[in-house]
Amino acid sequence: MAGDCIFCKIASGEIPSEKLHQDEAVFVIADISPQAPVHLLVIPFEHLASVAEVGEHNADLMRNMTLMANRAAQAAGVADSGYRLVMNTGAEGGQSVAHLHMHVLGGRQLSGQMG
Ligand code: 5GP
Ligand code: ZN
Repeated sequence: MAGDCIFCKIASGEIPSEKLHQDEAVFVIADISPQAPVHLLVIPFEHLASVAEVGEHNADLMRNMTLMANRAAQAAGVADSGYRLVMNTGAEGGQSVAHLHMHVLGGRQLSGQMG
């Protein structure tokens, strides 16, 4: 766990946040500042700063995150209407919390623009 990392504190339960789904590697919470009717975050329990730290040795995490994102989208009722998975990476990628996470956005027509 990284010292003052908010997602590590949520992972450990130090900061209470309802985990909507979880498995041994990742959990899902609702984003505190939702940008769409469905806005969930898929977060690994393990601290990695960003997807840039994913390599051969921990690439299984991406599998867990994708499967969990699909499960969360299904449970949130957007599997058929469509959804967007986003992983902001680093400063110019717009990442504000330096603990790897995947956004699951849906429930409205999202812009076709990439930013
Ligand atoms: P990023 O900008 O790093 O891609 O995404 C970080 C996301 O975490 C933002 O959408 C922000 O609203 C969300 N967030 C930040 N702090 C908290 C928190 O304490 N609880 C929850 N549920 N979401 C948070
Ligand atoms: Zn962390």
